[in-house]
Amino acid sequence: MSSSSSNLLRDVFAALTIAAILVTGYFLYQKSLVGSDYLDDIEEELVDEKFNRDFKFGFDTESHHFETSRIKHNQFVGQILTDNGISYGRVAKLEEKAKDVFDVRNIRAGKRFHLVKKDSCTDNALAFIYEPNPLRYVIYDFRDSVDVKVIEKDYSLIVEMASGEIKSSLWQSMTDQGINPGVIDLMEDALASSVSFYHTKKGDKFKVIYERKYIDGEAVSLGRMLGAYYQNKYGEYYSVYYENDLYTGFYDMEGRPSKKTFLKSPIKGSARISSRFNRRRLHPIKKRRIPHLGTDYAAPYGTPIMAVADGVITKATYSKNNGRYVKMRHDGTYETQYLHMQRFAKGIRPGVNVSQGATIGYVGSTGLATGPHVCFRFWKNRKQIDHLRENFPPAEPMPEDELPGYFEMRDSIRTMLDQIPFAGDLKIESKTIGEAL
Ligand SMILES: [Zn+2]
Repeated sequence: MSSSSSNLLRDVFAALTIAAILVTGYFLYQKSLVGSDYLDDIEEELVDEKFNRDFKFGFDTESHHFETSRIKHNQFVGQILTDNGISYGRVAKLEEKAKDVFDVRNIRAGKRFHLVKKDSCTDNALAFIYEPNPLRYVIYDFRDSVDVKVIEKDYSLIVEMASGEIKSSLWQSMTDQGINPGVIDLMEDALASSVSFYHTKKGDKFKVIYERKYIDGEAVSLGRMLGAYYQNKYGEYYSVYYENDLYTGFYDMEGRPSKKTFLKSPIKGSARISSRFNRRRLHPIKKRRIPHLGTDYAAPYGTPIMAVADGVITKATYSKNNGRYVKMRHDGTYETQYLHMQRFAKGIRPGVNVSQGATIGYVGSTGLATGPHVCFRFWKNRKQIDHLRENFPPAEPMPEDELPGYFEMRDSIRTMLDQIPFAGDLKIESKTIGEAL
């Protein structure tokens, strides 16, 4: 077992042991899991112990002036900086230096920034702080030579739980109760192989245990799903998060990976890959560098194209570049797309459920294509990725010698899940569990 995996085990066990005691007593309690072994590369907010002064973004708050605002549409960082006393030369130097750290071109309208000054707003800026998300900030520092740094904020990882019963749809039930919709995605991932979330029914029940990140008492993002339970008319299903050398993710009670597995290719037999996923490809028709965000499988006209996993058709349509194409959603994380089809298979239209291996269309060269092939695109969390490089779970159970370690984890999580009460009449409860030491 790797050391990160044993760290995870220790942390989760620590949280769950305490949690198990507290849940029975219905205590609301907080557990901060921040620790050097949990967050290796955190650079903590500096607190000068000697003078007991407060620091914000590393600047002493007593002797600095902070101006906070949001980036406006069409507002350039260079302009903000020159307006605040930074010379064009230094702005140019900054832009160059920032390229490998946090490129100023990635600064987006609507995001928060801060100008740090010596005394008042009329002073020149000492630093420009940009917050791309609540978990990190970037310091563009002008005090000495120009310097750029990304700082990960210190956060508390809280283990939370929620339970509920479906009244209309899973989304409706969760959002009605103020549960972060991201929890649904995590739960769908955890239970993907045992529960069909396209067929949720009124009266289905669920329980989840997951992590949430907090900064200054405010929830900023979700962490991992640690355990999930679902009950429908077919039975009860559990899923437990576990890390081992083969795969990091969800397993069922017997130690089988609970995530979907995908066919390696949408073409049966040995299709030839004619072009790989490549972010810097020279486009064969357009003759300039255009990223190729898919994998091309060359095959004769009319060759069946298969769905690489169970899912629901979200698109079956035509566009100028893609030609006739199908897009499918497999779970909260994965979608796939199949381009340049000659025609769709019978009955393929949005909203239709298809099984892994089912024919969804036939190879063609519609749209921008030089010959018959299927351009296969793989989406993970709404971004296109190279599926050939993705570490998908193995189809087999985990190795036998991992099982004792897994069973220990499984039993703790399962005990926890079983102790979570079903929230009363359609109510979903979110409780913070753990310690506040
Ligand atoms: Zn392609």
